[in-house]
Amino acid sequence: MDVGRGSGRDDVVEYEPVIGLEIHVQLSTRTKMFCGCELSFGEPPNTRTCPVCLGLPGALPVANAKAIHFGLMIGMALESELAPRSIFHRKNYFYPDLPKGYQISQYDEPLCRGGRLADVRVHRVHLEEDAAKLVHVGESGRIHASDASIVDFNRGGTPLAEIVTEPDVRSAEQAGEWLRLLRVTLGRLGVSDVNMEEGSLRCDANISVRPAGSDEMGTKTELKNMNSFRFIERGIKAEVIRQEKLLARGEKVVQETLHFDPSSGRITTLRSKEEAHDYRYFPEPDLVPIAVSEEMLDTARASMPELPLARAERFEHDPSYMLDTEVAKTLAFRTDLGDFLELRRPESPDEARVRANLIINELAPRVGTDVPLADSMVTPDAVVTISGALMRKEISIGGARQAFDILVEEGGDADAIIEREGLMSAEGGDELAAVVEAAIAANEDAAQKIKAGNPKAIGPIVGYVMRETQGRADGGEVTRLVHEQLGV
Ligand code: ADP
Ligand code: MG
Ligand code: ZN
Repeated sequence: MDVGRGSGRDDVVEYEPVIGLEIHVQLSTRTKMFCGCELSFGEPPNTRTCPVCLGLPGALPVANAKAIHFGLMIGMALESELAPRSIFHRKNYFYPDLPKGYQISQYDEPLCRGGRLADVRVHRVHLEEDAAKLVHVGESGRIHASDASIVDFNRGGTPLAEIVTEPDVRSAEQAGEWLRLLRVTLGRLGVSDVNMEEGSLRCDANISVRPAGSDEMGTKTELKNMNSFRFIERGIKAEVIRQEKLLARGEKVVQETLHFDPSSGRITTLRSKEEAHDYRYFPEPDLVPIAVSEEMLDTARASMPELPLARAERFEHDPSYMLDTEVAKTLAFRTDLGDFLELRRPESPDEARVRANLIINELAPRVGTDVPLADSMVTPDAVVTISGALMRKEISIGGARQAFDILVEEGGDADAIIEREGLMSAEGGDELAAVVEAAIAANEDAAQKIKAGNPKAIGPIVGYVMRETQGRADGGEVTRLVHEQLGV
């Protein structure tokens, strides 16, 4: 953390960031929030519109039942209190992408209140509709005041859930980590495609700083609409430093809405408190309240999958897995990796660990992130075979890697590939022992150092053996043989 200096005095004040997050999630319903238009995925402009989402006079909205269902699932995942009755409000403001002159949102009676995800409490979750999209066109595609802006109403009316946290976040890194957890949780729920580049998940960060240990809240600023975890972390860091410097100089933070430009790292003002909108919220007269029935709750409950946090816990503590915390998280937070491991139940925690490591470190990087593991050429049985061969020391990790190189390209039976490619470890102790003997002879220096009590000098000897065996020897076995032959 940056350390500021009290004005004119020598005592050093340490500051603590206080951060609350607001996340807009585009819901994966078939149709829009209040009309029957289908959601748009890059169709030609203004082809997914109707009198309701264009705000034509007399058109009447009807709330999307699937969006409410998804809202309840999000509330359940975040351990929120689900309101038996909630209502929609009109949030009034003018902008060319808002044809009605108001957005239908929820105000003081949201669908979900309170809750928590890991170390951050949730303040509320509510439903609303997205605005349309302004497309700025100019010669050469650059934005000029003199050029035109055209409106594409396809996005207007897309269902959103807005998740607002309590100001529990204390660092940029924690914000990033928590948002990643939220993203994978929402993805697992299947309520959104959570694609940040395409704007399905957008985040505003409310940021203040205060003297460390203080209970009071400083004046906050709001960083708007960041659409990548890296930018969010960088933006928060930059804003925290800016505020700390202001306070250290004895100046005040002004409440305002800010924009972080990732390419320059600069923070600029979008609007100040004086320009803040008075939205004149009032209850939407054209919509009935959302009354959540037992049946709706049952349906939502029945749709709840095992969530990533629970799955990570299970991988860590289930007697057949007992994986390290980080390994468990990696598998649980990439659903396809966890699924791949679980397709075959491990015989022992040792096997689970070996297989988990193969999936994370060998298989996933070779397959890439565009294809789920289950759709790759490699079968769960192939991973079981390779982990078994590794555990019996029939192949080395080098051999396993060669097998994965082939399996990812061609698929097929792992045993057959190990056989065909001759990937079995240099066989029989005798053969390997002979190679080790040659390696020691070729590296007298290293051998002397090991004898003199420097075990780290073994590198060149192991290197020699690996070259000779094309990486197929088992590292542990080589070390053992070297020690044996040198009598140390
Ligand atoms: P506003 O009325 O400006 O929208 P809210 O009270 O609704 O403010 O809070 C919006 C978000 O800002 C929430 O995520 C909340 O946790 C966070 N927040 C509120 N006060 C502060 C503060 N002093 N510092 C940092 N975040 C804050
Ligand atoms: Mg707000
Ligand atoms: Zn419509």
